[in-house]
Amino acid sequence: MAESFRNFINGRWVDSQQGQTFQNQNPANLDDVIGSFPLSTEADVAAAAEAAAQAYKTWRMIPAPKRGDILRRAGDILAERKDELARAMTREMGKPVFETKGDVQEAIDTAYYSATETRRLFGYNTPSELPDKMNLSFRMPVGVCGIITAWNFPMAVPSWKIFPALACGNTVVYKPSEDAPHSGNLLAEVLAEAGLPAGVFNVVHGAAQCGAAIVEHPLIKVIGFTGSTQVGAEIASRAGAMNKKVSLEMGGKNAQIVMPDADLDLALDGVVWGAFGTTGQRCTATSRLILHEAIYDDFINRLITRAAKLRLGPGLEEGTDVGPVINQKQLRRVQEYTAIGREEGALCVLGGDRADEGQLGRGCFFHPTIFINVDRNMRIAREEIFGPVLSVLKARDLTDAIEILNDTPYGLSSSLYTSNVNDAFRAVRDIEAGITYINVPTIGAEAHMPFGGVKGTGNGHREGGWTVFDIFTEWKTVYIDYSGSLQRAQIDNY
Ligand code: NAD
Repeated sequence: MAESFRNFINGRWVDSQQGQTFQNQNPANLDDVIGSFPLSTEADVAAAAEAAAQAYKTWRMIPAPKRGDILRRAGDILAERKDELARAMTREMGKPVFETKGDVQEAIDTAYYSATETRRLFGYNTPSELPDKMNLSFRMPVGVCGIITAWNFPMAVPSWKIFPALACGNTVVYKPSEDAPHSGNLLAEVLAEAGLPAGVFNVVHGAAQCGAAIVEHPLIKVIGFTGSTQVGAEIASRAGAMNKKVSLEMGGKNAQIVMPDADLDLALDGVVWGAFGTTGQRCTATSRLILHEAIYDDFINRLITRAAKLRLGPGLEEGTDVGPVINQKQLRRVQEYTAIGREEGALCVLGGDRADEGQLGRGCFFHPTIFINVDRNMRIAREEIFGPVLSVLKARDLTDAIEILNDTPYGLSSSLYTSNVNDAFRAVRDIEAGITYINVPTIGAEAHMPFGGVKGTGNGHREGGWTVFDIFTEWKTVYIDYSGSLQRAQIDNY
C-alpha cells in the first residue's frame, strides 16, 4: 500500500476536500510508488489562500531580521538533513544523488542569503524639491504569493522564490510539480521545524487545475512561476487580466560555442556536463553545441568517445552519471524529437533510442544522444526537447556562431569557450540571453546572482540575487513635510 501524503494548510496536514488523489512513481523504477498525493481543487486553494491571508496580518509585522532568523534556521535544518533529503528527491525525480545534494545546497545558500538580506532591504532617500520636507522610499511586502514550480530542481527552484518572499514579509501558497510533490512536503517540514508560524507557508498538491486556481484566487496577489513557456504564457495572460504581479521563468534552448583557440579539453568537459547532466532536463541545459568549422570533425569525434562512456542508471546507484527522464510522457517526447531529427536530415551519431537493457527497462531511460549536421532551421535546433539530446551545428566564425546562437525563440543561458579576450567581450555584448558564461558550461548558476532569461524564457524579472526582491515587494514612497505650511510641489518653489 502506497504511503499517503497530504496538503499542508494553516500548519496542519490535511486531505483534499474532494478526496481525489494522484500517485507519484520513481522514474528509475515505475514499480516503486513514492505515494499518493491530494489532487487539490479550487476549494483547497481557497482554504490555503485564506490561511495565508490571515497569517499575513501578523507575519508582515515581525521585524524583517527576525523573519531572517527563521530562514537561517531553515538553512541549518536543510544542511543537517542534506543527505536524507537528496536521496528522497532522487527517488522521486531521478537525477543522481550528487546532483540532488547540489540542489539542496542551493536551497541552503538561498536560505542564508535571504536571511542576510533581511538586514539589507534597502530603500532610497533623496532630497525634496521643497524646504523642510523629506522624501523616503521603502520596500513593502505584497501579500499572499502563489508559487507554482517545475519538478527538475525540487528544492532549489522553490527556495529561490519562497525564501525571499517570506523574508520580505509575504505569505505563500505553494504548488509543487505533480512529478516532485514529496519534496514540497519535505520543504514544509523544514520550514515548520524552523519555527515558521502556521499559515505563513502552505502546500497544495495537484496539477493544472490546482495551478490555475492559484492564479485565479483573488487573495493571491503575486504569481511566481517556473515551467514551460506554453503554461507560463497562459498564466501571464490570466494574471495580467487580474492585475497581478507575475514572474515567469520558462524554457530554454541554450548553446555552447567553441572557438579553435579554446582549451578544447575544458570545452569538452563543459559540453558533456552541460548537455547530459540532469539528463539534459535543466532549463539551462546545453541543447546546442556550435563548433567553429576548423575544429568541427575533431571535436565531434572526441565528444562521441566521451559521451559514450557516461553511465546511465538509477540516480540512487553509486557511479551513475545520467539518470532517467522524468516520466513516460517525457520519454515519448524525447523519442519523438529524435525521430524528427532523423526526418529533418540530421545524423544521429550516438544514442537515439530508449535504454531498456536489464533494470533500465523498469524506468524511463534514454541513451545520451548526439545529432550532427544540424541546420539552424531544424526543429531539433530551435525547440526545447528537455532530455539528453545534443544538436551540433557548424559556424564559420564568431559572428556566425553568435547569430546561430541567437536564432531561437528562447534566451536563457549561453556559453563561449575561447582564449581570446576580445571575442569573449564581444560575445557578452552580442549574445541575447539572460546569462552568458565564458569558459564555463551553460549550467551552474549561483544563488546570489540574478537568474532568468530574455525572449520566450521570461517576462523581465530575475530571480536569485538582489533582483528577486523586486518581485516580492512593492515600493512605498513617503513624503514628510515638517514646514507647518501647505507646500505645493511643482508650484510653490518655481
Ligand atoms: P509545466 O509547464 O508543464 O509545469 C510547471 C508547473 O505548472 C507544474 O507545477 C504544473 O502542474 C503547473 N501547471 C500546468 N498547467 C498549469 C496551468 N494551466 N495553470 C497553472 N499551473 C499549471 O513544466 P514542467 O514540465 O514541469 O517543467 C519543464 C519546463 O520547466 C521546461 O520548459 C523547463 O525549461 C522549465 N524550467 C524553467 C526554469 C527556469 O528557471 N527558467 C527552471 C526549471 C524548469
